[in-house]
Amino acid sequence: MHAPVVVLGGGPGGYAAAFLAADEGMEVTIVEAEPRLGGTCLIRGCIPSKALLHVAKVISEVEELKSEWGIEYSGEPKIDVDVVRARKDKVIDNLTGGLGGLAKRRNVTVIQARGSFVSSNELKLEGDHESIPEGGKLTFDKCIVATGSIPAMPPAFDIGSDRVMDSTGALALKDIPETLLVVGGGYIGLEMGTVYAHLGSKVSVVELGEGLLPGADRDLVKPLAKKIDKMCDGRVFLNTKVGSLAEDGDKVVVSFEGPSKFGTESYDRVLISIGRRPVTRGLGLENTKVEVNERGFIVCDEQQRTADPNILAIGDVAGDPMLAHKATHEGRVAAEVLAGKNVAFDKAAIPAVVFTDPEIAWAGLTEGEAKAAGRKVDVEVYPWAASGRAQAIGVTNGLTKWLVDPETHRVLGCGIVGTGAGELIAEAVLAIEMGCEVTDITESVHPHPTLSETLMNAGEVHFGTATEIY
Ligand code: FAD
Repeated sequence: MHAPVVVLGGGPGGYAAAFLAADEGMEVTIVEAEPRLGGTCLIRGCIPSKALLHVAKVISEVEELKSEWGIEYSGEPKIDVDVVRARKDKVIDNLTGGLGGLAKRRNVTVIQARGSFVSSNELKLEGDHESIPEGGKLTFDKCIVATGSIPAMPPAFDIGSDRVMDSTGALALKDIPETLLVVGGGYIGLEMGTVYAHLGSKVSVVELGEGLLPGADRDLVKPLAKKIDKMCDGRVFLNTKVGSLAEDGDKVVVSFEGPSKFGTESYDRVLISIGRRPVTRGLGLENTKVEVNERGFIVCDEQQRTADPNILAIGDVAGDPMLAHKATHEGRVAAEVLAGKNVAFDKAAIPAVVFTDPEIAWAGLTEGEAKAAGRKVDVEVYPWAASGRAQAIGVTNGLTKWLVDPETHRVLGCGIVGTGAGELIAEAVLAIEMGCEVTDITESVHPHPTLSETLMNAGEVHFGTATEIY
């Protein structure tokens, strides 16, 4: 079988590339190893985690009402884990089913197989699905690699016990363990830790670095770290290494080496969330001219082209940040490049969001990056304690800040911690993308009383005109 354009991998990068390429008039085939399109994001990442986090949020809001707002509900919440799991699975089914329909409508052929390169214009297809052409051979003119990433699991932690889970295992929500250790204080560990804590587990977090969410600005992390510490009853072990894991009956014995935790402790389940690695092994890339860097990512330019003229790469497999919206955007760029358009991906403002309570979001330059680059910036911070809306709904632990170029007054970056930060950051993305000056933000009328006003107020701080209470 021959296909003019093949997309290898049907996640948010792959299906976005395939759909746009088809819309551009190309004949497109997706090769996806799994029975449905959607990839990590829809099946075992963004969507199921947010479905479960929403349950956690509802539970924690009710708890706060009880303790702080004078509203009494009798008894503790009763959690039916089967119903919680079924709702999450239904959300996944709805979305993945919709993708199948979108592929059909565009005449995109979907082959369910594991693909690997035999050469720069041929894939070997493995599997037993009827969609695989006879002989398992697929030649192509152009191929977009979108094989994504998988959880990193060092051999020392891979002890063959289902009590030791990766993010996929945690999202399966087999049960609610009495005790759960989260190894790794990045966004996936904290999001899943939040889910399990609110469903009733006693959660502990261990992180090798000196703070949670390495990479995020510390002032943004501070309110979250406080909340996580409370959620874990102080069981957040920083600067601490997990040495080994061993199964002992229905427990996992964990050895710790660190100032805040040393020696061994047993847990019902352990979640390993120490990062993800790109899926480049076993793809037969050595049979092509594609280059892979020392971290295993495919090297490509701003048009998503690799060193092989027939092959492009997008999404998690093509480098950081490993985020769904970055994968989708790269997919669209790759499709347009194949359509002969002169486009490129300028990664000026890819937003990052941590969907914890409070949420953290940032876009563009961070303070950490500005410092590392020795770049002078004005940092304009507006604390949410001064926001009328934040006071009214009891979310005063947030802050909004802009990073501003002191000479041009252009906004270079934005960071937000607080309820809805993930939604609020979209305004900042647009402002940074459009090269706005601070006045563009302060002179745009924001609705009152909303948390979006904090973006305007933080801008006003730049001119010393922010009202203290708004
Ligand atoms: P993937 O989604 O990983 O898709 C790759 C596809 O390729 C898979 O379907 C796989 O089966 C297929 N494949 C691999 N090898 C082959 C082969 N040889 N042959 C055929 N098919 C193959 N990102 C966000 O932006 N926001 C979030 O809130 C968020 N939350 C997350 C929560 C969790 C728990 C996890 C694990 C991830 C989360 N992510 C989030 C990250 C996001 O899921 C990824 O960045 C995104 O899915 C990457 O898209 P992709 O298309 O590059 O690859």
